[in-house]
Amino acid sequence: MGELKKRIHAVCAYSKDDDIAIIITTKCAICGGKVEEREVSEEVRIGNDFVIIENVRAGVCVECGERYYPPGIVDRLRDIERSIRDRKTLKKLTLIGSTYRLGYDTHV
Ligand SMILES: [Zn+2]
Repeated sequence: MGELKKRIHAVCAYSKDDDIAIIITTKCAICGGKVEEREVSEEVRIGNDFVIIENVRAGVCVECGERYYPPGIVDRLRDIERSIRDRKTLKKLTLIGSTYRLGYDTHV
């Protein structure tokens, strides 16, 4: 799970329907800031390839940016991640950029 798992700190109340995420937690557990429901992008790394999963519904703290995911969405993200680890699935996605390597001390 790597990156994805690390970012999931907490989970909010949710409805059974994945598409209707009801975020009851309105206060951030980290800083106490206001949590609002938003559409965010999640990045998944597979070796040197990155996949950006767009339009993910999450609660986002307006102060520190901490994200809160309803359980249904966490499961869906894990399913997507599992699926895109398959090279065949990866080839079906739209290529939108390239990844480059640059050493910190390299003069460009
Ligand atoms: Zn916060």
